[in-house]
Amino acid sequence: MATTKSTTTSAGTSTESVKQITYLAAALKAPRITEAAARLADQARDAGWTHEDYLAAVLEREVSARNASGAQLRIRAAGFPGVKTLEDFDFDAQPAARQQLGALASGGFLTEARNVVLLGPPGTGKTHLATALGVSAARHGHRVLFATATDWVTRLTDAHRAGRLPQELARLRRYGLIIVDEVGYLPIEQDAANLFFQLVSSRYEHASLILTSNLPFSGWGGVFGDQAVAAAMIDRIVHHADVLTLKGASYRLRGRGIDSLPSIRTTTGQTES
Ligand code: ADP
Ligand code: MG
Repeated sequence: MATTKSTTTSAGTSTESVKQITYLAAALKAPRITEAAARLADQARDAGWTHEDYLAAVLEREVSARNASGAQLRIRAAGFPGVKTLEDFDFDAQPAARQQLGALASGGFLTEARNVVLLGPPGTGKTHLATALGVSAARHGHRVLFATATDWVTRLTDAHRAGRLPQELARLRRYGLIIVDEVGYLPIEQDAANLFFQLVSSRYEHASLILTSNLPFSGWGGVFGDQAVAAAMIDRIVHHADVLTLKGASYRLRGRGIDSLPSIRTTTGQTES
């Protein structure tokens, strides 16, 4: 009679070893290893993998599952208004942005602490692209926070009132990417503008910002109520930045007539319905 150790299932797997794998995977808090080990064992036997190939394949499944769930957590924690990706973006509507976005999608701007500024009229995809770059950053392992300029001002004002602005700025620096959506929709009080300036300064050459605005830089003085603060801020933002200017009509409005007639979409895009 064989010992339990050498008892094999019909597929040739030692039942004792399977039990042990289940136990050890749970102890490692990697329960997916149990499933991957079983599933890949037959494949490994059939294909004549080496022990090393098999071990690498099992561990690879666990690591990629962990990375994916880490990305999911980071995407959920970022506070995006909705999850949008570059794959969902119709570059035929913004052909000039295609190349720049392609380069940004790799995430190199984050490791260099560069910024991205998306300018353009309402509905041209600024929030969509800012979110898409944020989602991509989260997938590359970066921590991301998204909020509107007004929300950022509220957070910074709260921190300032509580006497913990320096701590808050230090905490925010641990995020590889901060997205400030909708600079320019609402005016920012002068005190708040100074807090916002401190956010920009504290990240300068340390960590990235993405900002979106319906206004050109020349209009930011009016938003921040002070030309000098706006100029100093823009100087720091733009020193290491990619500035994309989106053009044309609102995609939301254009989309209505276009979705059913994709073949007539043109690069000028101004004439459809
Ligand atoms: P903005 O922030 O510039 O006002 P949004 O990014 O909010 O515009 O875009 C408005 C809506 O249209 C969103 O639902 C967005 O996903 C969609 N949208 C805008 N441009 C495009 C595009 N080129 N391809 C696909 N969807 C787009
Ligand atoms: Mg927007």
